[in-house]
Amino acid sequence: MSSESVKNFSSLETPGYVGFANLPNQVHRKSVKKGFEFTLMVVGESGLGKSTLVTSLFLTDLYPERLIPGAMEKMQQTVRLEPSTVEIEERGVKLRLTVVDTPGYGDAIDNRDSFNEIIGYINQQFERFLKDESGLNRKNIMDNRVHCCFYFISPFGHGLKPLDIEFMKKLHNKVNIVPVIAKADVLTKKEMQKLKKTVLEEIAKNGIRIYSLPECDSDEDEEYKEQVRQLKQAVPFAVCGANTELEVKGRKVKGRLYPWGVVEVENPEHCDFIKLRTMLITHMQDLQEITQQVHYENYRSERLAKEGPVPKKNGVEDTSAPISEKDKILQEKEAELKRMQEMIAAMQAKMQQTK
Ligand code: GDP
Repeated sequence: MSSESVKNFSSLETPGYVGFANLPNQVHRKSVKKGFEFTLMVVGESGLGKSTLVTSLFLTDLYPERLIPGAMEKMQQTVRLEPSTVEIEERGVKLRLTVVDTPGYGDAIDNRDSFNEIIGYINQQFERFLKDESGLNRKNIMDNRVHCCFYFISPFGHGLKPLDIEFMKKLHNKVNIVPVIAKADVLTKKEMQKLKKTVLEEIAKNGIRIYSLPECDSDEDEEYKEQVRQLKQAVPFAVCGANTELEVKGRKVKGRLYPWGVVEVENPEHCDFIKLRTMLITHMQDLQEITQQVHYENYRSERLAKEGPVPKKNGVEDTSAPISEKDKILQEKEAELKRMQEMIAAMQAKMQQTK
């Protein structure tokens, strides 16, 4: 699916309740009414289970017609960015969720083009927001900025690959990175602990900044504090995905059936899937705030510093310097808005007088 598609998806609480109805606890009532916008990007080598996990997380198939490329195609292609949007509604709370998948990442021999494509996409969304923010219709801006990136790490290596390090370093100033270890079911508990430890050490050694859950306020209730402590301890989240429903001792579970038993996706003893989902849902607003206050502000100030304000003549601002056609239109629109606001204020004052 290369073009952006929007699907309506009304999930029933049982079975398959995602949990977004808890969002009103975090967000302002106004945004609940309007709907909540969130964009998640998933990056990692092909075959690590990205699409399976996304489908398991949001209980909807975002990739109905994907073709699996052959080895030759893989070597030739760079990354393709596939944004898909779903609208999820639970208990009257609307969530407009966009998932940007990155098939083809890491497949090419030279991955520089993939990096550039992904960073270009993130920048494009910042640029779009910057333009909208300085436009007239500021109230109805659609926020397509990437708020979080799940970075998939292979369970088959002994830690991070050079590709993982290089890419995360390029990405950490632009987006909140949440590292996840894919296909947790292929490792024993001990092997997983070792891999998690190595990955965290390599992240620290290479100066990679990943998303860190905020500290709890001291007046927060103990249950919440414990939940955050467990979530922090689980990083990097080791996840499994499956889209088949199986029956285990009379219960219906999402799982993977092996000759020796069933790996249950939502069983915290089997993997960190539930923890990852809880982290995402309970910290959606924090992820958005960091995107706005850190990543977007970085982009905005860099962009403005590069383009400069009004050109200078002998160190003095040259107001006679030619302004671009776009800036001219913007200035005219702003002047018109100011005139209208003044008119409304005058009318309101008149009405007050006649009361
Ligand atoms: P993507 O290319 O990263 O989007 O990967 P897919 O979601 O298409 O999955 C690739 C293959 O891995 C498929 O055969 C899946 O059934 C399998 N797979 C997905 N998730 C898991 C998992 O958690 N564990 C294991 N063992 N296999 C998985």
